[in-house]
Amino acid sequence: MPELPEVETVRRALAQHLCGQEVTAVQVLNPRLRMAVDARALAGLVGLPLQAVNRRGKYLLLLFSGRILVCHLGMSGRFSLSLPGEELPAHTHVVFAFTSRQRLVYVDPRRFGLLLLVDREELIPFFPLGPEPTDVSAVEQQLLVAKKRSKSPVRNVLLDQKIIAGVGNIYANEALFAAGIRPQTPMGRLTRKQISALSVALRQVIERAIAAGGTTLKDGSFRNALGDPGYFAVDLAVYDREGQPCVRCGKGIRRLVLTGRSAYFCPSCQH
Ligand SMILES: [Zn+2]
Repeated sequence: MPELPEVETVRRALAQHLCGQEVTAVQVLNPRLRMAVDARALAGLVGLPLQAVNRRGKYLLLLFSGRILVCHLGMSGRFSLSLPGEELPAHTHVVFAFTSRQRLVYVDPRRFGLLLLVDREELIPFFPLGPEPTDVSAVEQQLLVAKKRSKSPVRNVLLDQKIIAGVGNIYANEALFAAGIRPQTPMGRLTRKQISALSVALRQVIERAIAAGGTTLKDGSFRNALGDPGYFAVDLAVYDREGQPCVRCGKGIRRLVLTGRSAYFCPSCQH
């Protein structure tokens, strides 16, 4: 599942390659996504320039003079660029053609993604989202409130998009390792010092991953940049490393399941 750093990498690539160009055609090959794609609404983008590509949490916001295309990659969504005549990948849902003749292709085998065109005013209800995970002081405030209200394990609190936007399971586990906190610790038991350390760790982990994703952009092809998620370039300390030695102390990483999803920790570095 794409996480915030991957979405940010895609955002930068789209902004770099497509901003300023006009849409010349929109073709909906398969409208079936989380919400059905409205082909008639998307046709209204023809003739409009892509002005900016923003991000909020894991949502991409493509701005076209007064209209916003809200995109979420869901479980398996992916954007790629191609030229006319090139074969479209399997599971292509929508193709946007631009004045440079480049085509932006949205592919989504598991169909949990979202492509929704809205007017600016309609946008607000879509975002009951907490602050960005890189905003350390806002995150710290949110976690202090959660400490009073929530009995959930801290890992689950980090995944709650209303508390902090854009954190997925990979970076939640990595931030907890960096802060020395076990994922199953009840939120109410965290000390202020731990909350402070966790807020800083979250920003570091996310920024490092964005930087790693960004470096894949420099080695050339846009298609690689979009098709090859940056997180493979990040050295993960605990996530999906059950039984492997801890990068700090060498002890075996342990896995447990919290509300149906794996959590990973080092029994000696995390308390
Ligand atoms: Zn360790």
